[in-house]
Amino acid sequence: MQKILNYINGELLEPVSKQFMDNFDPSTGSVYSLIPDSDERDVELAVKAADEAYENWSSFSPEKRSKIMVRISELMEKHIDKLAEAETVDQGKPLWLSKTGEIPRAISNIRFFGTAIEHFASEAHPMGDHAINYTVRTPIGVVGCISPWNLPLYLFTWKIAPALATGNCVVAKPSEITPMSAYLFAEICIEAGLPKGVLNIVHGLGPKVGSSIVSHPNIKAISFTGGTKTGAEIARVAAPMFKKLSLELGGKNPNIIFADCDFDKMLNETVRSSFLNQGEICLCGSRIFIERPLYEKFKTAFIEKIKQQILGDPLNEKTKIGAIVSEPHFQKILSYIELAKQEGGTILIGGNNVKPEGRCANGWFIEPTIIEGLSYDCRTNQEEIFGPVVTLTPFDNEEEVLMMANSTQYGLACTVWTENLTRAHRISQKIKSGIVWINCWLLRDLRTPFGGVKQSGVGREGGWEALRFFTEQKNICVKL
Ligand code: NDP
Repeated sequence: MQKILNYINGELLEPVSKQFMDNFDPSTGSVYSLIPDSDERDVELAVKAADEAYENWSSFSPEKRSKIMVRISELMEKHIDKLAEAETVDQGKPLWLSKTGEIPRAISNIRFFGTAIEHFASEAHPMGDHAINYTVRTPIGVVGCISPWNLPLYLFTWKIAPALATGNCVVAKPSEITPMSAYLFAEICIEAGLPKGVLNIVHGLGPKVGSSIVSHPNIKAISFTGGTKTGAEIARVAAPMFKKLSLELGGKNPNIIFADCDFDKMLNETVRSSFLNQGEICLCGSRIFIERPLYEKFKTAFIEKIKQQILGDPLNEKTKIGAIVSEPHFQKILSYIELAKQEGGTILIGGNNVKPEGRCANGWFIEPTIIEGLSYDCRTNQEEIFGPVVTLTPFDNEEEVLMMANSTQYGLACTVWTENLTRAHRISQKIKSGIVWINCWLLRDLRTPFGGVKQSGVGREGGWEALRFFTEQKNICVKL
């Protein structure tokens, strides 16, 4: 059986413990590879390698670092089919989505930050003719990047690309649930000639490997994407050590639909924003609010559309809804569907686990599920489910929908559907979230700030924000 290996000091290594854990294919429920069960000893080796590599890597010109990163992106292009298949087998998402969405976006991350660094300038502040201030931006040193399982290679590269471009050395941990694409990425880094120790990937469990990265005194900054509870634990450990922190956490995003929207466009996008990647995207709109005059028309049309969504083998090109990433997560989603029933919700469609025929009979699949009749403040409507489950709630006016939309502890993203431009801008101002999409969803420009408010996170990633996060500033004042 294939063994995934750590990538430390330019080499692919077994963990010090020599222990491995099972890695599951969620579409079959069976073990298909083994993951290193690393611990603090592997993290120590990775930090040592990164420390040793830092002087050299940070002294490279931006152009030289850029060249290596562009080479990595070209090799990712070359291996795109292999990466896409690996992501699908590991995560459960349909293969077409890995091929057209996630892996091309991961490649863009490396190329975008690898070229952005050549244009990254710092500021100067002249004080008339008697003095000038100029600001230098230097890399931080060794930094830690920890990513989740839902968009494995995309979120992994989203963090390490700006960290490497700015001259830091990295100790990274992908989710133990979806480690395969990061392992293949390590092979690509070797092929591309990334100097040893610049990037180190330690596989294993969050409480062992992740927490060793967070608490290591030589790691000066942590960029984390994952659940709010884990983010709080990371902040508890890292804040007293005065580490720089970027936390991209959970969401419970509202999708607000006004009666004057472009109905067909809204309907097609709402199918995507509800169920793409089995609803396992932090930006999915899981709470759908519909202006009352449109409610019944929307409900009927939405259910009809969902009936056409083909669920099953992620390797089949017709599949729209693949497998749920792991058995614990599958159980968690089903328990929320039960909770919704106890809270008085009516399941309009879905609500069950499915056993597809053939090779996926033992996989973890859940029907796309639409629920109505719940109060906006019940647990189903307040807690993150992170699966193919959405709720429908009617509203009568802007004040009411804003109150309901803003009622959760989260504030990541929001979608608004209306042809009334003034209203769209007014709602966008009043929504408490880091991202608002008007008449679209998941339209991403890598230059824009990305992140949430409230318990959806601290800090922004993307564009210059990410390059600034991974650098320290020093102001130098010269008397003329
Ligand atoms: P988790 O918080 O469980 O895990 C995220 C990562 O942190 C994993 O690599 C995990 O390792 C690791 N980890 C776990 N415990 C610790 C610890 N004590 N110290 C350091 N690292 C630790 O999130 P999930 O993987 O379950 O991902 C789903 C969550 O991610 C959802 O809440 C979703 O909303 C959020 N998310 C947010 C995004 C955003 O941009 N705001 C984007 C995508 C997802 P292991 O896997 O071994 O437990």
